[in-house]
Amino acid sequence: MLSHMKILKIIEEYTNAFLDLIYPSKTICYMCGGTQEKDAKYSLCHNCYNNLPFIPEHHCVKCGIPLRMIEEGPICRQCANSDYYFDRAISVVKYEKDVKTLIYKLKYSNHTYLAKTIGCIMADRLKQEGLGIDIIIPVPLYKNKERERGFNQSTLIGKHISEKTGIPLNVDSCARIRNTKVMYNLTKRERLKNVEGAFKVIDQRIIADRDILLVDDIFTTGSTVNSCSKELINSGAKSVTVFTFARD
Ligand SMILES: [Zn+2]
Ligand SMILES: [Zn+2]
Repeated sequence: MLSHMKILKIIEEYTNAFLDLIYPSKTICYMCGGTQEKDAKYSLCHNCYNNLPFIPEHHCVKCGIPLRMIEEGPICRQCANSDYYFDRAISVVKYEKDVKTLIYKLKYSNHTYLAKTIGCIMADRLKQEGLGIDIIIPVPLYKNKERERGFNQSTLIGKHISEKTGIPLNVDSCARIRNTKVMYNLTKRERLKNVEGAFKVIDQRIIADRDILLVDDIFTTGSTVNSCSKELINSGAKSVTVFTFARD
């Protein structure tokens, strides 16, 4: 006789097969809603993938921002005058129109399946870098905020990067210990103050002597990732590489 669990599993499989039939999610491009080609990657059609605003080769080696003039570099003016705690920040695409929509849908409209598209694109980018990374840490959300949203988008993205690269993910070793304001309208100084001391390493054994990949969806002024990097470095991390999908 079939066990209860087995029956549930069969029902689930049939339901999924039925849903695939009426919502053929595997063949629809997540960005434009058009049809995906057979060899399309990341659930994006060729056109949408090729039109992503990838960060050009000529970018700041420290913070990842595209550099305007060819004679500028290897670091931008801002990095020349600031002392970030992370070794380096890498981003994949510029925070522009379609990318903005993609991130907005993931964060605020519960389209969590987009984390796989973003995470897998990031994983492939990371492999090209050939960095020695011991552990992936997503930038933590304050616990009330995570409960409200139902998920931490950076954790979802980090999970897919971890699955695709084999680098372990850890979500318990670092926490955001207080709520921080939305930073959209804050000045640089206010942003720094807003996130100062907002992060706390809970389990130093995970952090100490490790090369850490700190994952977030977007790098704006860098104040959030820098505050988190500071806490990780002060807790004994060997290095912190910030890795975000988008760069504003
Ligand atoms: Zn498309
Ligand atoms: Zn820079």
